[in-house]
Amino acid sequence: MIKNNRLTKEQYQQNFSDIHPPFETQDAALVEANRCLFCYDAPCTKSCPTSINIPKFIKQISTDNIKGSAHTIFQSNIMGAGCSKVCPVEKLCEGSCVFNLMHETPIHIAKLQRYATEKAIDQKWQLFERKKSTGKKAAIVGAGPAGLSCAHVLSREGIDVTIYEKESKGGGLMTYGIAAYKVTPKFCEDEVNYITSIGGIEIKYDQELGKNISLVELQKRYDVVYLAIGVGLARQLDIPGEDATGVIDAIKFIYELRNNDFSSLAVGDRVAVIGLGMTAIDAATQAKRLGAKEVTIIYRRTEAEKPCTDVELDIAKLDGCNIIWLAAPKEVKSINGKVNQLVCSRMKLGEPDASGRRSPVDTNDTFELDVDMIIKAAGQTPFEKLVSDISIINTKGKIEIRNCASNIKGVFAGGDCVNGGKEVVDAVQAGKDGASSILSYLGIKNE
Ligand code: SF4
Repeated sequence: MIKNNRLTKEQYQQNFSDIHPPFETQDAALVEANRCLFCYDAPCTKSCPTSINIPKFIKQISTDNIKGSAHTIFQSNIMGAGCSKVCPVEKLCEGSCVFNLMHETPIHIAKLQRYATEKAIDQKWQLFERKKSTGKKAAIVGAGPAGLSCAHVLSREGIDVTIYEKESKGGGLMTYGIAAYKVTPKFCEDEVNYITSIGGIEIKYDQELGKNISLVELQKRYDVVYLAIGVGLARQLDIPGEDATGVIDAIKFIYELRNNDFSSLAVGDRVAVIGLGMTAIDAATQAKRLGAKEVTIIYRRTEAEKPCTDVELDIAKLDGCNIIWLAAPKEVKSINGKVNQLVCSRMKLGEPDASGRRSPVDTNDTFELDVDMIIKAAGQTPFEKLVSDISIINTKGKIEIRNCASNIKGVFAGGDCVNGGKEVVDAVQAGKDGASSILSYLGIKNE
């Protein structure tokens, strides 16, 4: 049965507490920083999408120059604090640390990054100076990682930025789409406030493109427009019975979880989660942590092809989630309109596709799973409707851009709405790239 209020207040608190706690003492951070070999041509930096100078910021921590360390991080990634909590570091910086080659624990880069950046946010250190206003104005649509990152670079260069955000809070995916035990709403709010505290950035909330504002209007009022609207709707399964009560989108599930009291959120006894990306893992683990008795993840390929990282998969396993490999949803069965069974096809792996990835093939053998809730996390589709009126959609349904510029003069785009949905850190880099293109377009030197 789908119901709320399954646990005690203390259990909710424990289940949704910080999954990666910070260093307990300054000494602990110093000891970890001093383990770093400060490699020349550091592989950790090369594998960071925003190219943070990792040996430099760790060296600064080791000499107790925390302000300098935070500056080094924020210079490359203004959301460095949030990224230290949500980045899949095992496949990025920490996964490339040379200690892995020696079969030793890699440097805890994310924890050190968190140590420096959280202090900067807590102490409200203003580490960047905004240049004199150039008189140029930019409109950014979306206050998520790409929009905020772009805004910060532009503001530093003296552009007056107005961000139009459809939600009532900033942060985008960070605030609305990530597991609650990774980042708290308070942290997300503090991070947005820290970014905008440089000045020259105004966020107008509850303003949706295509509803409250139009691109034509923004083009008239601003010198440039940057679209950072993220990805939108969850991909449908296109199977019979999908509209039964109890079948929900993972994005909506996580959104509700991030916006409400945990005890008010209803979850089933037996939950099936379709997909195995980060959103699927977040939905599965949170359903379990809300009190679901049984959570089963359905994935149509094998573990070798999984889109999530080993660490994410381990979290799901540790939380007690089951995983059925080589299975795909075929039909949702319901009683009185309420879901009670998921019929799945057993799959096998076929020939590799153009990307070299082996495609799943239906074996025509099925099995049933008794469930009372199904969470769909099979990917997202872009906000096609919002942008279709400006003719910058390519055949795959993504915004078509070249060097961050669209085919409309003065209109730029970046982040998930262009790449179809990647990590937060990729969106931050996209925002920097967008700002760099905008500055060139405006004839302003980017320093
Ligand atoms: Fe330090 Fe590891 Fe990066 Fe080398 S690869 S600089 S040891 S964090």
